[in-house]
Amino acid sequence: MKLLLLSSPVVQLDFDRIARVPNLGLASLAAHVDDLCTVHVADIHGLKNHREYVKKIVNGYDLVGLTAMSFQYQEALALAKIAKLSGAETVFGGYHPTLAAEEIGKSGDAALIDFIVRGEGEATFRELVQAKLAGKSPRGILGLSYHEGEGIGKGMVHNPPRPLLKVEEIRMPKRDARLLTRGFYSFDVPIDCVETSRGCTQGCKFCSINLMYGRRFRRFSIERVIEDILDAEAHGAGSIFFPDDNITLDPKRLERLCQAIIDANLTHLRYKTQASASGIASSKQLVDKMGEAGFDGVFLGVESINKRNLEFLGKGKMSNDAEKAVQNLQDNNIIDSTGLIGGNHDDDEEDLGLHANLRTRHLSEEEVQFITWQMNARYYDYEWLRYNKVKRLYPRWFASEIRRLAPFYARRKLELALGRRTARDFFQEDLASGELCKGVT
Ligand code: SF4
Repeated sequence: MKLLLLSSPVVQLDFDRIARVPNLGLASLAAHVDDLCTVHVADIHGLKNHREYVKKIVNGYDLVGLTAMSFQYQEALALAKIAKLSGAETVFGGYHPTLAAEEIGKSGDAALIDFIVRGEGEATFRELVQAKLAGKSPRGILGLSYHEGEGIGKGMVHNPPRPLLKVEEIRMPKRDARLLTRGFYSFDVPIDCVETSRGCTQGCKFCSINLMYGRRFRRFSIERVIEDILDAEAHGAGSIFFPDDNITLDPKRLERLCQAIIDANLTHLRYKTQASASGIASSKQLVDKMGEAGFDGVFLGVESINKRNLEFLGKGKMSNDAEKAVQNLQDNNIIDSTGLIGGNHDDDEEDLGLHANLRTRHLSEEEVQFITWQMNARYYDYEWLRYNKVKRLYPRWFASEIRRLAPFYARRKLELALGRRTARDFFQEDLASGELCKGVT
C-alpha cells in the first residue's frame, strides 16, 4: 500500500516572502504508518504549479491525504479531484475538515472525500491504514468520518471523537518521508519545525485550538525536543521554528528548554516561535535565556491594542502586556512581529490589523481592507527601514528585498505624482496579487 500526504499549497504571500516552513503534522502522520506501508510527504506549498506536480506524481498511490484550514479548503478539493481521477482514495484532516465535518459530510464535497480524520490525527490515521490493509470496515475507528456501504451522497458516518494521545505515544516526525526538501527558509536560512508541546488551557474566543485539543496542555520531554532539533539539523535546517500553540504557558519549562539548548551546544541554530504577549511579558529572565539560546524571532499574539477588543476576544487580562513583551524582545535583539485581529464588531479606523474577511458595524469588508493596506504603507516607512532588526540579522536577504522593492516603489511614487494612477488602483492591484504589504511608500 502506498500513501501520499499533501500540504496545502495555499499560502499567505506576504508571509511566504519571509518564511516558508515544511509541514510538521504530515511528517508526524508519516511516522505513525511508515512501519505499515510506503508513505511519502509532499510539501507542495513552494511549487509554482502544484496541480501539475500532483498530477505527475499521484499515480500508483492508494490513499492521498490532504490538510486544510478554511481558506485552503477549496484548493484541497481540487487536488482531491486529481487524486480520485488517478484511482486513489482521499482522506482529509486538519482544522477545517475537523470543525466542519458534519457540514462537509452532507455536502456534495463528500463525493471527493472518502475519509475525514478529525482532531489529532496520528492514531486515527494509523488505525484507518491498518483497517484498509486488513480489508476491514472503518466502523468503530474513533475520530474518523467515512461513507458506509453505498453511502456516498447520503452523508458521512461520524464515529465518536478520539481521546488525545499521551505525549509518550507520539512518535518523532519522519522527515525522511519528504519528497521535497528544498525551498524552505526563514529569510535566507533553511528552516524546519520542532514541536515542544501541544494545546493550550486558555479559552480565547477567536481561537480554534481548544476545539482540536480541548483545553489541555501536553508537554514533550526536553530530551525528545533536543533529539528532534538534532534530527532537523541533520536534515539541513539552520533555523528551527517551534509551532507550539502556546509555548509560554509554562515559562519555567521554556527556560529549561533554552538551558538544554545551551548545554547541548545548539546555540548556533536560529530559533523562532509564536508566543502570547502575556507569556513573553511575564518574565524578563525567560526572554534573556531565549536570547542566550539563539532565539532571534518571536511572532507575538498581541491580538489588539484596544482594551475593549481584548475583553471581547477573551484576553482582557493581557491589556498591559504587549509593550512589556516587545521591550523584553528588543532588549535581546529578537525580531518581534505581532498578530493583530481586525474586524471585531465595534472596530473603526483606529482599531485595524492586516487581512480582512469581516465587516464591522462601521466599515464594509472592502473599507477594512483598504484602511489596513494604507496603514501598512505607513508602517513600512523610512523609520522602519532605519530601525528594524532584520537588516542586521539577515543582511543578505534584506539587501535582495531592497533591490526587488526599491524600483517598484519608485515607479509607484512616480505614477502617483504624475496623476496616472491612484492609491486605490495600487490597492486593487495588490489585492489581486495577494500581496498586501506593498503599499505605495
Ligand atoms: S492563548 Fe493562544 S493558543 Fe491559547 S486559546 Fe488563546 S489564542 Fe489560542
